[in-house]
Amino acid sequence: MKRIAIIGAGQSGLQLGLGLLAAGFEVTLYSDRSAQEIHAGRVMSSQCMFDSALEIERDLKLNYWEEQCPKVEGVGFAVPDSVGGKIVDWAARLDDFAQSVDQRVKIPRWLTEFEKRGGELRIKAAGVEDLEACARSHDLVIVASGKGAIGQFFQRDASHSPFSEPQRVLALTYVRGMRAREPYPAVCFNLVPNVGEYFVFPALTTSGACEIMVFEGVPGGPMDCWNDATTPEQHLAISKGILEKFMPWEAERCRNLELTDDHGTLVGRVLPTVRRPIGTLPSGAMMLGMADAVVLNDPITGQGSNNAARCAEIYLASIVERAEGKADPEWMQHTFDRYWTGYAQWVVDWTNLLLRPPGHVVKLLDCAGKISAVASAFVNGFDDPRTLFPWFMDAAEAEKFVQEEAKAVAERFDRRDYRKALGQFATGVFRFLESTAHTLEPVTANAQLRRFLPCYALRGECTGGPSAPSIPPILDAAAR
Ligand SMILES: Cc1cc2nc3c(=O)[nH]c(=O)nc-3n(C[C@H](O)[C@H](O)[C@H](O)COP(=O)(O)OP(=O)(O)OC[C@H]3O[C@@H](n4cnc5c(N)ncnc54)[C@H](O)[C@@H]3O)c2cc1C
Repeated sequence: MKRIAIIGAGQSGLQLGLGLLAAGFEVTLYSDRSAQEIHAGRVMSSQCMFDSALEIERDLKLNYWEEQCPKVEGVGFAVPDSVGGKIVDWAARLDDFAQSVDQRVKIPRWLTEFEKRGGELRIKAAGVEDLEACARSHDLVIVASGKGAIGQFFQRDASHSPFSEPQRVLALTYVRGMRAREPYPAVCFNLVPNVGEYFVFPALTTSGACEIMVFEGVPGGPMDCWNDATTPEQHLAISKGILEKFMPWEAERCRNLELTDDHGTLVGRVLPTVRRPIGTLPSGAMMLGMADAVVLNDPITGQGSNNAARCAEIYLASIVERAEGKADPEWMQHTFDRYWTGYAQWVVDWTNLLLRPPGHVVKLLDCAGKISAVASAFVNGFDDPRTLFPWFMDAAEAEKFVQEEAKAVAERFDRRDYRKALGQFATGVFRFLESTAHTLEPVTANAQLRRFLPCYALRGECTGGPSAPSIPPILDAAAR
């Protein structure tokens, strides 16, 4: 296997193409748009990529924007109550930062690099004739066409495609002027029951740093409201209107908002679909599908580009291993299986679960606000959704996980922590005793001390915790 044709120059096709060139293969790449057209065109994604996927780009030396691109250091969750406040509100740090580089920046640069490194680039929307020609002239044809129509050559896998309709109406709004999240930049994820989700995070676009607003509206609900937007300004006004109505804390950040550019908006729908990995052309020639072309997820969990990077990495390894052999159907199936069983299936199951969150997920979100280890496990699951199994997916497992984490927190109890907490907050306690209501805040804001307050123990933060002394012993200790 020496000559490889790739149809589609997105995250997966280009990353694979560049990797194959570095490994000494001859690569022909079809892109339906030139680098200039992509750069000047409409935004396509919010493309937030987490550390493990960024690491793949680093290994291939394709991380040209790492210094320039704002870093996303955590993920925060909020669920509104009925009076303009929040019933869930917490954030946790990612172990390593995430980044989002506008595909209008990334893909043109990678296309240029592809040609510079000796790849053959054909600017053309590949049709059946082109595919047949590639199948004759190349040892392997890979279809990396994303949501493109040629994905229809790959049969839908009903056993892994539970939906017959898109589950969300999607909208993107690329903006500048948003007040930065404090104290660290994060994906702010808001879940409004029966309305949809809104998440926002810093990114790098064609004109520099920006924030990307992502709306995921339940079809037919109040966030399914983009039909009236015929201009970018109207799209921006609708974006702000949604926040004012459902997430006033997010609207607060948006007083001085402006669009990054006239192409910084997008409206669409995605039907989550898994397809069989081998497509057959009219001649009988076979092609291997990759990334979104065969495993398409709703963007609610922000996994598509991450999946694409993983898929390209696995396919690259498989092709390199097979360099001296043939790309027969067994090898194609095995290559896809490495991706599916090793990674993609977990992403699909998790993403589909969040499109229709069962009761235990909402409960988990609540627990995560009280047990930082649960919050951290959830947030870092975005980098590798396999780590969310089985505990995130099942009510009984979730309960078990929360209990174990709570117990672990309790077992970390150390009297020195206790004394330290008391030392730091004795002043706050005494001010509380002087009955200034506001000074309760610094006491309860301290995790160490909070573990000993019965009101928090009762709320479950400290289930099975240490001896959980009541307030009088704390005050006694503070007085000493
Ligand atoms: C609103 C939205 C928000 C998203 N947010 C995130 C996020 O935050 N994080 C994340 O990881 N993912 C996100 N995604 C998903 C992510 O963008 C995709 O999963 C990822 O780009 C898929 O990569 P790919 O290589 O499979 O396909 P693509 O990136 O779609 O690339 C396919 C390319 O092939 C081209 N093509 C199609 N047909 C042909 C043809 N016949 N001939 C030649 N070229 C062709 C297409 O024009 C395209 O350029 C989001 C998606 C959407 C829609």
